[in-house]
Amino acid sequence: MFFSFFTQVLAKPVFLTEEERIFIKKNPLVKIGLMPDFAPFSYYTKNTPVGFEHELLNILSERTGLVFEKTIAKWTTIYTAFKNKELDVITSISHKKYREPFTNFTSSYYDIPIMVFVRDDFGEYLGIESLKGKKVGVLKDVFYIEELKKVGNIDLVYYDTYEALTKDLVFGKIDALMQNLTNINYFIKKNLYSNIKLASELILPNTKKEDLRLGVNPQKPLLKSILQKALDSITKKEKETLVTKWIGSIKEYKGGHVELDKNEKAYLNTKTIKYCINPDGLPFEGLNENNEHSGISSDYYTLFEKILSAKFQLVKTNNWNESITYIKEGKCDMLALSMETFERKKFLNFTSSYLNVPLVVATTVDVPFINHILDLEGEKVGIIKGDAFVKILRQKYPSLDLIEVEDIKEGLDKVKSGELFGFIDTLASIGYEFQQKYFGELKIAGKINETLDLSMAVIKKDETLFNILQKAINSMTNEVHREIFNKWLPIKYEKGINYKLVWKVGIVSLIIILLIGYWNRKIIKTNKLLEKAQKDIKEKNKELEKLATTDKLTKLYNRRKIEELLEFELYRSERFNHSFGLVIIDIDNFKEVNDIYGHQTGDKVLEEVATILSTNRRKTDFIGRYGGEEFIIICPESNLDGVLNLMENLRKKISEYSFYKVQNRTASFGVTISQEKDTIESLLKRADIALYSAKNSGRNKVEYK
Ligand code: GH3
Ligand code: MG
Ligand code: MG
Repeated sequence: MFFSFFTQVLAKPVFLTEEERIFIKKNPLVKIGLMPDFAPFSYYTKNTPVGFEHELLNILSERTGLVFEKTIAKWTTIYTAFKNKELDVITSISHKKYREPFTNFTSSYYDIPIMVFVRDDFGEYLGIESLKGKKVGVLKDVFYIEELKKVGNIDLVYYDTYEALTKDLVFGKIDALMQNLTNINYFIKKNLYSNIKLASELILPNTKKEDLRLGVNPQKPLLKSILQKALDSITKKEKETLVTKWIGSIKEYKGGHVELDKNEKAYLNTKTIKYCINPDGLPFEGLNENNEHSGISSDYYTLFEKILSAKFQLVKTNNWNESITYIKEGKCDMLALSMETFERKKFLNFTSSYLNVPLVVATTVDVPFINHILDLEGEKVGIIKGDAFVKILRQKYPSLDLIEVEDIKEGLDKVKSGELFGFIDTLASIGYEFQQKYFGELKIAGKINETLDLSMAVIKKDETLFNILQKAINSMTNEVHREIFNKWLPIKYEKGINYKLVWKVGIVSLIIILLIGYWNRKIIKTNKLLEKAQKDIKEKNKELEKLATTDKLTKLYNRRKIEELLEFELYRSERFNHSFGLVIIDIDNFKEVNDIYGHQTGDKVLEEVATILSTNRRKTDFIGRYGGEEFIIICPESNLDGVLNLMENLRKKISEYSFYKVQNRTASFGVTISQEKDTIESLLKRADIALYSAKNSGRNKVEYK
């Protein structure tokens, strides 16, 4: 026997007048405008329009018999079409006096507060005054523009789409943005933006929350009254359900509150939920040194345990494929993080996705930017075996030569060795590996137009668990998402682009990936040609590079290369906040050597010093000849004491060495440690001052500044 715990709340009936009924009979088709990017009210997932408003329209349609013919286009387009009477109804319109001549407003079906968002580095937000003199992004034609203009001195920047608006804030083109809360939260969550935050609710005179109404062509008063009656028929409970489903998931409140029914509570009280993970999928999920669940999904589980008072138990597997087998065999009830695929949907239910990550291609640093996945045509491209994406990419892009590898490390190593041209994975996983290794050797060459949408997957027969988890996901606040992402994905967003540095260092920051989208076809073509040409000369370049970067006499790096390395080190120290040491070494009284023994002997001494320096250095240090009888050593990730010790050792080694013909020689050392805001010049200058004081205090000394 089955009991249903759902009680159908009966809708209030819609009482229509005779006139209204006739109107519907004669004009069942209603032309209505909706937005494509107005999440969570109307937006797209996987090419299907979804959202609060679509579901609302379904209800209105059921209750009245009206059929909605949807035009989905950006706000300015549908707004103009509505004004021109090409549309009967427009959604998401706020009541404004000036709109009255061409709009008959229904009551509001949702009120959203407008929020000010800023980047993390904005400083304190003290109300609207803090925006004076700042660049503030708003959507074209939003209802509070006039009030904003009255504030004065705000440099307003207008946008067509919500996405562009958010991106520009993230990447520093604007200082703040105004938008309704639900909407921006959706984009922050979707793109894992971690550097912007909510500053405050926007308080403007004469401006209330953004009221969402249906706007109806005033020449159709009957249509307006029908829609109003249908809206009125929606019960509080029905509206709550709609709100929970579409807006609840991105509501901005701390700590989740999940309303469970009796059945669900009983389930959690009696059952331990067994779940499987991908043991090798960090930062998303994996096992730590103690063989415990770690990564993004583990943080979510810790939270779920708290919010739901549920007991979760990890069922360990050796790899992802085994996890899939386990869930098929019922050895676990659910997968912590999984992508919805056609195959998997046959035996699993998927919650809405709680992680959406873009896919990117990693290549060696010398490869031009990848603008489109088809730029990879004919190249060997790695992807992780058994990944949900393998099949999808194969179907969509049969011309790709996808090579499956066991794990990300194998993939990236093969790119490094040249066995693979590129490797496709999520930005997060590649970024995670890059932090550990491959820095300066591999780069993210481009974003491909696919995202990985990850949700929880539950075995089909366990619907209760599925409902519980969906509720838990809905209750997750944006703040919580941010905290978790920030912990696992410390990817920095650069402001502005220093192309020279980017090329030199070979790190392509996210901005460039985004810029790629804007490059025109011509550049794509040129890039392809370049790519070919580049390959041909790659070998020759390698030889040339060696010649161009080493000093003939000593075989150490030459000045040019040392300066390049120095720039790289400076960039790295800035980015990762480590200091490094820089040392200038000058041979004492070297002129003497030339004068007494001749230039050739001098050269020989230089070679011998070079050998002493390179045989006694640490593997990570870079040594170069800076000119004449001066040498430079760069000691990455070092502190002063460490460098002084090393140099003291070198100084001794030189002074104790018996040089060809000339016997004993000494050298003076000037040491400095990089500081915040250093430039190549300021660094060299300090090292030079230190060297000068070593010379002044009698030579054969190590001094620092
Ligand atoms: P100090 O202790 O003050 O450094 O005295 P120093 O004699 O070493 O003075 P300084 O650094 O000014 O002189 C550098 C000399 O090094 C000048 C030049 O004759 C010699 N020199 C520079 N490059 C070369 C080279 O490639 N080969 C040889 N044999 N000598 C060089
Ligand atoms: Mg000198
Ligand atoms: Mg000298």
